[in-house]
This record gives sequence, C-alpha cells and structure tokens, in this order.
Amino acid sequence: MSISPIFDPVAWNLTDEQAALATKTRNLAATNFAPRASTFDREAAFPTENYKDMAKAGLLGICIPESEGGMGADLKTYMIAAAEMGRFCGATALTFNMHVSSCLWTGFLLDGLGLDAAIRKQHNDMRKLHYNRILNDGKIYSQPFSEGGAAAAGFKAFGTTALKTDGGWIVNGKKIFASLSGHADYYGALCTALQKPDDKHSRRNTMYLAVAADAQGVSVEGEWDPLGMRGTVSRTLIFKDVFVADEDQLMPLGVYPSAAVRWPHMFMTLTPTYMGIAQACYDFTVAYLRGEVPGTPPVKRRMYPTKQIAVAQMRVMLDQTKSTWFQAISEAKPDPSQDSLMRAWSAQYTVMENANHLAQLAIRTCGGQAMLRSLPLERLYRDSRCGSLMLPWTAELCLDKLGKGALYNPGESDDD
Ligand SMILES: Cc1cc2nc3c(=O)[nH]c(=O)nc-3n(C[C@H](O)[C@H](O)[C@H](O)COP(=O)(O)OP(=O)(O)OC[C@H]3O[C@@H](n4cnc5c(N)ncnc54)[C@H](O)[C@@H]3O)c2cc1C
Repeated sequence: MSISPIFDPVAWNLTDEQAALATKTRNLAATNFAPRASTFDREAAFPTENYKDMAKAGLLGICIPESEGGMGADLKTYMIAAAEMGRFCGATALTFNMHVSSCLWTGFLLDGLGLDAAIRKQHNDMRKLHYNRILNDGKIYSQPFSEGGAAAAGFKAFGTTALKTDGGWIVNGKKIFASLSGHADYYGALCTALQKPDDKHSRRNTMYLAVAADAQGVSVEGEWDPLGMRGTVSRTLIFKDVFVADEDQLMPLGVYPSAAVRWPHMFMTLTPTYMGIAQACYDFTVAYLRGEVPGTPPVKRRMYPTKQIAVAQMRVMLDQTKSTWFQAISEAKPDPSQDSLMRAWSAQYTVMENANHLAQLAIRTCGGQAMLRSLPLERLYRDSRCGSLMLPWTAELCLDKLGKGALYNPGESDDD
C-alpha cells in the first residue's frame, strides 16, 4: 500500500531532492522499521537492525556534503525526510537525529558561516576523518550534551572538561540521557576546553569532539527503563581521563560557540521525529474509524458525529502544526532576525506539544481497544510526551523565550 507523504511535493513546493529523500526514508521506515518498533520499545533495546538498513541505503551520510561523498541534504531537506521516519519508529528517528546532527554542524551549518580561511581549511581537513568513518565503515555518532545542570540549556559552561595535553585532550565528565549509549561508535561530546587544570570554565571555550566508544576510560552506567522513546537507550556516559587525539575534534576550538549562536534553528532538529508522530496519530485515527487498521476487526466507527468532530479537530491541529513547522524550517538560516527566531520557538513548542495532544485525542476518539499494546497508538502516546523535555528548547523554555522576546527588544532591560 502506498502511503501519502506528510508534505505533498506539489502542494508544499518541495524540490526534487526533498521529495526523493522523503520518499526513500518513508519507504524504508514503513517497510522495515514499523514492524520492528514495538519490540525495540518493549525491550528498551537499540534499533541496531534499522541502522544496518540505513547504512545500506546511504542514509547515514544524508547530511554529509556531496563534495565529501554524502547525499548533501541541507537542514530543511533533512527535516522533511526525518519526519517521515518519525511516523514509523520514533526512537529510531530521534537517535538518527543525534547521528545526523554531527554531520549538520560540521557540514551544512559551518559551510554557511564565513569562517576565516585558515580555520575553514583546518575544519575541512578535520571533518574528512569523521565522514570517512561514517561513509566507509558505517560508524554511528551520537550527541551527548546534557549533564543535569544548566549547561545543556545554554546557561552555563559544560562541566565535562577537555584538558590540553600533547597531541590531544584528556576528557573527564558525565553526560546524562546520552541516546545511543553503548551503541554509537563515537560520542560527539561538548566539553569545556582547558589549557591548564585550574583555568576558569567559560562557555566561550566550548569544545566539540568525538570520543571513541571503545577508548580507555569510557563507560556506560545506569538502567534505562523510561516512559517513552525507550529504543533510544539514553543511559549515562562516564568519561574518566579519556585521551582524545587532536584530529578527533569535530570542529577547531572556538568555532562551536559562535556556530550555536548564529545558527539557532539547528536546535529544531529534534522536532521532525515528533512531526512524524503527530502525523501517525492522525493517520491511525482515520484508519481506525474507517475499520482499516490491520489486525483489528473491520468495524467502522466513522458514522458517529462525535468521531467526525474529533477527527476534524485533529486535522485542524495537524494542519496548524505542519504549516508552522514548515514555515520555520523554510526560513532557517544563519543570523536570523528576532521575528524569525520567535517563529522557530513557536514552531518547536507547537510540534512538541501538539504531537502529545494529537496522541491523547487519538486514544480518546478511537477508544479502549485502540490502546492495546498490539497496536502502535499507545507507543505513539508515550513517545510523544518526551518531545517537550528536550533541551535546550523545552516547551517551557520556548515559552520563556517567546514571552521575553515579545516584550523586550534585544538589549532592553528593566533593571536600573
Ligand atoms: C528520550 C530522551 C532522549 C534524550 N537524548 C539526549 C541526547 O542524546 N543527548 C543529550 O544531550 N540529551 C538528551 N536528552 C536530554 C534532554 O535534552 C534534557 O537534557 C533532559 O530531558 C533534561 O532533563 P532534566 O530533568 O535534567 O532537566 P532539568 O535541567 O532538571 O530541567 C527541567 C525542566 O526545567 C526547565 N528548565 C531547565 N533549565 C531552565 C532554566 N535555566 N530556566 C527556566 N527553566 C529551565 C526545562 O523546561 C526543563 O525541561 C534526552 C532526553 C530524553 C527524554
């Protein structure tokens, strides 16, 4: 059965590349990932088989620039394709985002910033190592930023440190909620670079480097038995005197802090998973009320006016979510205006919250038989709740930024 795209290429004016990558991702996820999703969820197990499929399909290099042998997807193209994956396995889509982020930061994003020529050369030499690992050896990268303090929200320097030593860095620290822990080959960690052990920690010295999972001093701790997104295996990573060679940096020192400030839409890359979940909740509800969900009796429920109203409300919410999100990812660029940035926060909030609203409406509308574990809806419901919790743009922090952004011009304050 052919499944309609979330964003119809003609209606949403997609490029041929966007349409083709979305189709490729949707077909792979619908055919291979959907049937495996409930097992990974139930066992809180990492979707290794899905990653093998992605490596075979070339998708691990989706955002590696074409000049380096990858598919060269830009931010918007990736987001549209990744949303298709989120419809069928949220945990795979979310972990895929962690992997892809390491390529987006080092590729499309930095390529759009006017870096100094020497730094650009240094960076281009550096990234070849990572891209070769991904493209030629099928290596997977992850993105452990969170530490349990204010660093992942962008308010403080990271507590994980990288101390300069001969030929590299000595890394020490702890990362919580590190998706793909025990399964990624490299952890793309953010740390605070120190030239001397007693240097003051500063956000300006944030360093982005790839810690090999099998390096001495790397360990994974704690159990992983959460409400949702169980296949992400987001356990705790410990780095104890881990040596990371200079060439394993993902960016030259000093580049990440300005890239993060200049490219804020990058933090929206956590949303496509939930855009896909929102679509999946709506699709399930329509199919269920029509009596067309495989594995359930062909009972139609669509003739009841209350169901029709509920589906209409879901459709309105889905269309609002899609439109707001599509606009925000369409205008993503370095150094956005304050108005554009506010639309990005608004879109992030809308997708993360509406995915969960749609999931709960779907359960209420379809009824008790629809929330049995043999069907995907209850997993969508649990997974959808996690989107608003993702730093740095949690639902709460988006509202916080929007409120301040609306009432204060940049630089304005009420303090005397
Ligand atoms: C399924 C899943 C996968 C994840 N994967 C990764 C990953 O791969 N890499 C990674 O780095 N992180 C990951 N995270 C972590 C995520 O980004 C957050 O860091 C984590 O959920 C924070 O939880 P916390 O309870 O420690 O938050 P806290 O820091 O305790 O914050 C709790 C809430 O308070 C609010 N808050 C926080 N700081 C402020 C502030 N300064 N001002 C006002 N309000 C504030 C926020 O809304 C936040 O949600 C994952 C999380 C989940 C749920």
